[in-house]
Amino acid sequence: MTTVVGRPNVGKSSLVNALVGQKVSIVSRRPQTTRHRIHGVRNRDDVQIVFVDTPGLHEREQRELNRVLNRAATGAIEGVDVVLHVVESGQWRSDDDLALARAKASGLPVVAALNKVDRQADKSKLLPELAALGARHDYADIVPVSATHGDNLDKLADVLAGFMPEGPALFPPDQVQGHDLAFTIAECVREKLTRMLHQELPYALSVGVEMLEDSEGLLRTRAVIWVEREAQKKIVIGAGGETAKRVGTSARRELERQLGKKVYLQTHVRVRANWSDDPAALRALGYEG
Ligand code: GDP
Repeated sequence: MTTVVGRPNVGKSSLVNALVGQKVSIVSRRPQTTRHRIHGVRNRDDVQIVFVDTPGLHEREQRELNRVLNRAATGAIEGVDVVLHVVESGQWRSDDDLALARAKASGLPVVAALNKVDRQADKSKLLPELAALGARHDYADIVPVSATHGDNLDKLADVLAGFMPEGPALFPPDQVQGHDLAFTIAECVREKLTRMLHQELPYALSVGVEMLEDSEGLLRTRAVIWVEREAQKKIVIGAGGETAKRVGTSARRELERQLGKKVYLQTHVRVRANWSDDPAALRALGYEG
């Protein structure tokens, strides 16, 4: 399995989506062996590359939620074979140092993807940039790519495949596109929120699905966005309800595309105080205390 790290906006989701070859390919059940959030699976003849989130590598160290997630990560990281560190061509910032520090702390081999090279008109600048990146860490490999132009993605997949263990596929390829519908809906809403709110995204935000009526041509569903404080609720809803409305609309469109049917999606924002400090609430969300 490959876990992806990198500061916001370097193109992590674009890259994973491009590598996976379809917008979201979610498996029906997460395997028992892992509590990772699965982003996608790239099936190759020889080996399967599974892209996952590894909680301890992505969250800021705070409070109960992190203690639990980090504990989960310590066990979970054993299933991860390689860390993919995504950086943006021409833009190294302090958050990149942070992401690199986390990647290093994993003790796993780290492959760097230098993304957005399409923006670099002068290709002669690329070699010095790759060299400078190589000086920051003893990366197992460094691959210049463009997620949006599809440049060099096969090469990156080859490099990552080299780290995947031999053996039976973690997910039978025919299961890869199966859906756990509630999970897909929640992920879709969360993705849109992340895109719309960027740094403003409340840290302890979770999305659940309360109602789901799936019939032939129509899916009716209600997603609940849980936050911890009224102030966060205001951010998620936005001025005049604008943010929540846009999130709902784009999530609905995307689900309609993915599922090939009409979707009626309601979104509610609710405040649940301190859920991230509450072990019972964490267990209810699938994290073991
Ligand atoms: P994340 O926050 O790291 O997951 O980044 P996103 O995948 O959301 O990408 C952030 C922005 O960079 C989006 O506007 C993408 O369209 C853009 N982007 C991602 N990859 C590339 C690339 O290879 N080239 C260019 N020019 N833009 C890219």
